[in-house]
Amino acid sequence: MTTNVKATIPANVPATMPRPQPLPGRDSAFFWDGAARGELMGQRCAACKLFRHPPRPMCPNCQSVEREEVRLSGRGTIHAFIHPVHPMIPMFDYPLTCVLVDLEEGIRIFSNLYECEKEDVRIGMPVEVFFVPTAGDKQVPVFRPARDAKAGSKGARS
Ligand SMILES: [Zn+2]
Repeated sequence: MTTNVKATIPANVPATMPRPQPLPGRDSAFFWDGAARGELMGQRCAACKLFRHPPRPMCPNCQSVEREEVRLSGRGTIHAFIHPVHPMIPMFDYPLTCVLVDLEEGIRIFSNLYECEKEDVRIGMPVEVFFVPTAGDKQVPVFRPARDAKAGSKGARS
């Protein structure tokens, strides 16, 4: 005899544990130091000025190992998204939205989307960065719908 077990995900399950803290490597330490300050940082080739993410030692365009660490605008648009449901991870709030964001500087970053109902997420939606705390008194960058875009559309209607 088989039992039909249906997994149900309760809405808005609050996280019961802090998010795991970042584990910086030699190439990504500046990124996580920036996040701890509330700044989204990016790596740019010092020779050809191409941005790259995630941070790595050599430029894929010109093979230079000279690099610059630049504060990014934190603005971008959603390239893709998913709503993972199983297995639920106790450090995250559900429903959870994972996004790939195309940043203005031309690089793509993986993150979470907050302050947006699951049904309202759209590819191409303008978003802006903010930061949420983790274990170890660190922070990670996450995104929410861009407030400028909301204000702009509201202004256009009135
Ligand atoms: Zn380069």
